[in-house]
Amino acid sequence: MISKKMTALVNNSSVIRAMFEEGKRLAGIYGPENVFDFSLGNPNVPAPAAVNDAIRHIVDEEESTTIHGYMSNAGFEDVRHRIAASVNRRFGTNFSTDNIVMTVGAAGGINVLFKAIINPGDEIIAFAPYFGEYRAYADNVDAKLVVVPPHIPDFQPDLDNFEKLITPKTRAVIINTPNNPTGVIYSEATLGAMAQILERKQQEYGSEIILFSDEPYRELAYDNAVVPYVTKYYKNTVVGYSYSKSLSLPGERIGYLVLPGEMDDAENIISACNVATRILGFVNAPSLMQKVAAECVDIDVSENVAIYNRNREALFSGLTEAGFECVKPEGAFYMFVKTPVDDTEFAAMAKKYNILVVPGSTFACPGYVRIAYCVAYDTIVNSLPGFRELAKELGL
Ligand code: PLP
Repeated sequence: MISKKMTALVNNSSVIRAMFEEGKRLAGIYGPENVFDFSLGNPNVPAPAAVNDAIRHIVDEEESTTIHGYMSNAGFEDVRHRIAASVNRRFGTNFSTDNIVMTVGAAGGINVLFKAIINPGDEIIAFAPYFGEYRAYADNVDAKLVVVPPHIPDFQPDLDNFEKLITPKTRAVIINTPNNPTGVIYSEATLGAMAQILERKQQEYGSEIILFSDEPYRELAYDNAVVPYVTKYYKNTVVGYSYSKSLSLPGERIGYLVLPGEMDDAENIISACNVATRILGFVNAPSLMQKVAAECVDIDVSENVAIYNRNREALFSGLTEAGFECVKPEGAFYMFVKTPVDDTEFAAMAKKYNILVVPGSTFACPGYVRIAYCVAYDTIVNSLPGFRELAKELGL
């Protein structure tokens, strides 16, 4: 009864979601305090108080028909204006209301952009390891996802292989920095070199290639690491932002696209994104949350970052002391740990200690597992004896 495409997708349904369900099942048996569920990037830090204050204030003071009504597909003008102004202030850019399209989270933004620019058979390049949902998003528009192999052990993008994989059919390149699942941040030098390659290839093929910067983790950077703003290096850049992680609002589904005016064919791409928002069935991003985002656009999330940083330090030292190997994350809230055995087997072994981690194969990078450390500090501390046992079992 279901479509052929969906049959395949259902059969390969997200390993991450399955783990999350497993975590709930184990918690029912052993008690939540005895299960160490590192499977999902669901922030455990509460949304800042300013978010709930904004919700109350908006509901009390604004016209009900405005805040709960339809608006243009791109979102409320005042919201887009405030977001553009904030991006300009923080990153020295020069965007206006017209350059912002409000989206249903980062996922909504990626799908809107792909719908707007991709023809069937086009190629979208991603760097392994990458957020596994990119496969489904490419499939939604009948594109081919072309994968640049991982650059081990530092997980910076492999630019030599990247250049070789660009073809006349390449229409988009998706990057994610700070990265899920590795936590690495791409430097200015890396982004500059990537931009030069793209410029060169566009000229060679007479094509236009969009660089999509997927940035739900932009604010989550440690030790004052700089996360460069990608539009500065390459004019055909689109930025997809989301409040899911920085404001701990993943269920509220709110984010935005930045579509620079200097992009080739900018006007048409912006119009296409508006129409894509409508015809994908979103119609517009959630109205109340748009207003909340505008009120909270400049709030300081350093307290949240400090909480994740404490988790990062505890987990990194605990795991490396136990003998595990991994790159210390510079941002986001994931650690990508090398597995001395097959990654799926490793995840199964960890489950014996009630530890849930996601195999790297999900991110097109076998031989590693992802640990999402956006959990309570106690979960990390209490999981370490299990990790130490696991290390012994593996002979580390
Ligand atoms: N992109 C990356 C790299 C992610 O890690 C996630 C969520 O985990 C998303 C996109 C989707 O984010 P959102 O909840 O804002 O749609």
